[in-house]
Amino acid sequence: MKTWNQHVVKQENKTLVLNTIKQLSPISRAEIANLTGLNKGTVSSLVSELLEEKLIYESGPGQSSGGRRPVMLLFNQVAGFSIGIDLGVNYLLGIVTDLQGNILHEKTISYKDLTYEKIMTHLYDIIDQLIALTPKSPYGIVGIGVGVPGTVSKAGKVLLAPNLKWRNIDLKSVLQDKYNVPIIIENEANAGAYGEKLFGAGKEAKNLVYVSVGIGIGVGLILNNQLYRGNNGFSGELGHMTIDIAGEKCRCGNKGCWELYASEQALLKKANDAGLSSTGDDVTLDYLLKLATSGETIAIQQFEHIGENLAVGINNIINIFNPQQIIIGNRMASAKRWLTNPLEKRMQARTLWFQQRDLEINFSELSTHSAALGVTAFVAENFFNSDLQKFSQAL
Ligand SMILES: [Zn+2]
Repeated sequence: MKTWNQHVVKQENKTLVLNTIKQLSPISRAEIANLTGLNKGTVSSLVSELLEEKLIYESGPGQSSGGRRPVMLLFNQVAGFSIGIDLGVNYLLGIVTDLQGNILHEKTISYKDLTYEKIMTHLYDIIDQLIALTPKSPYGIVGIGVGVPGTVSKAGKVLLAPNLKWRNIDLKSVLQDKYNVPIIIENEANAGAYGEKLFGAGKEAKNLVYVSVGIGIGVGLILNNQLYRGNNGFSGELGHMTIDIAGEKCRCGNKGCWELYASEQALLKKANDAGLSSTGDDVTLDYLLKLATSGETIAIQQFEHIGENLAVGINNIINIFNPQQIIIGNRMASAKRWLTNPLEKRMQARTLWFQQRDLEINFSELSTHSAALGVTAFVAENFFNSDLQKFSQAL
């Protein structure tokens, strides 16, 4: 019988072989042995297992001008599919991706001020629709990930999502009972940071800060190439850092929080106060974007004001983390055109000169999809690691 250590080493080698194929597919067994330093026999036996598990497949020998060409190995990215949901305060975005993060289908709905029960009805509806659209595959749906705008415990409980008015909601168990697949619940800014790091504007950065600007503001930190979650997973609540000690009251219980001045919620409140609604209904972000695009000065000024206020918090973040890159994402990123100048101007005037060196400020490349892609990536990783987990749990 194998010892636990031998089992771990084998799993690690198998992961290494699979990751090599994932990244460099198509690739031969001999090339894998060369690149990983594993001996050919080990590679062969691990490859056989992966073939049997349908995580990879072989292509016929390639054409050759000289000697015999080896059989090539390819990653089977459609061995299973992952569902990712970005659960916003006023929208739901759901996607299905293959195991490499390619989006096959997406569904989205917008809403306003809904109860927990109503949001859950929409959530089930979107998940059901995505499941119905998912193609048949050896592993089917390998899990569902949900990014939420709030603090999430390591056990997947939403401890507090002030803008949703959610407290102590065991979303993970609720979804696990209903769908019977692995469920991952993650803070949406953490998920967004991970999505940008893997697929978006942050691929090259070792230290990046993702600022998710929606109805609230959340921040995801990639430090030394790793998602930093803090001791209990509660890091990144920087939308609630105080920027005005005598400021307005926030839903979190504090006063003068950054998100009260620089979020979509702040934008809409100011725009309503300025009487920008034409119909008497509350102004929406889409409506303001339309006005600004058509050159409406008051609408443009609203965005410029947000750009300046974003700079205030980003300046604080830079002084704490000295990052290489800041990525502004989520819905507010669609106002990039009007946010950039005021933001940069204020940053240049207020940020310590040495912090400005080697610092890039970008807007999300994945626009509104970073968080959904981030959670599907967590789901896929969890699927690939599950063999090892099963074994350790059995001990
Ligand atoms: Zn707050």
